Amino acid sequence: MFTGGGLRSSDTDWLANFNRANRKIEQTSSSPVWSAILGRCPRCAGGRLFTGYLKISEACDNCNLGFSAHDAGDGPVVPVMLIVGPVVAGSSFWLEFSIQPSLWLHMVIWPPLILILCLGLLRPFKAIFIGVQFKFRSVNGEFPDSDDFQK
Ligand SMILES: [Zn+2]
Repeated sequence: MFTGGGLRSSDTDWLANFNRANRKIEQTSSSPVWSAILGRCPRCAGGRLFTGYLKISEACDNCNLGFSAHDAGDGPVVPVMLIVGPVVAGSSFWLEFSIQPSLWLHMVIWPPLILILCLGLLRPFKAIFIGVQFKFRSVNGEFPDSDDFQK
């Protein structure tokens, strides 16, 4: 039932919260790559993207963007392998052919280095993949301006 013109207080509260959230988003925006390196939300760069080391949180605690539809899958593993593989293989060949160390030195150096490089690169690459999904809207999530995007 239509009760007349004017805004109800719930409408103005919603509008005030929306404007406050947008101001907060504008203040914290930064480079998407830098946000990914820091593990921050791809939209506002203020909230945390991860709850665990590689576990994505349900939603941004700053702008409330939902991450549940975002799934990077096995995608981040590919660039990590393409970076770590040549670095470790090239370094091990260089070490072997330059000073020819004993086999135990290879066993001490390379497995921990592989582990450190892979774990260090996996989290930022996962965040970059989710940031790219957000930027190109490849997820059927809720976007505040999705109506404008479809026009
Ligand atoms: Zn956010």
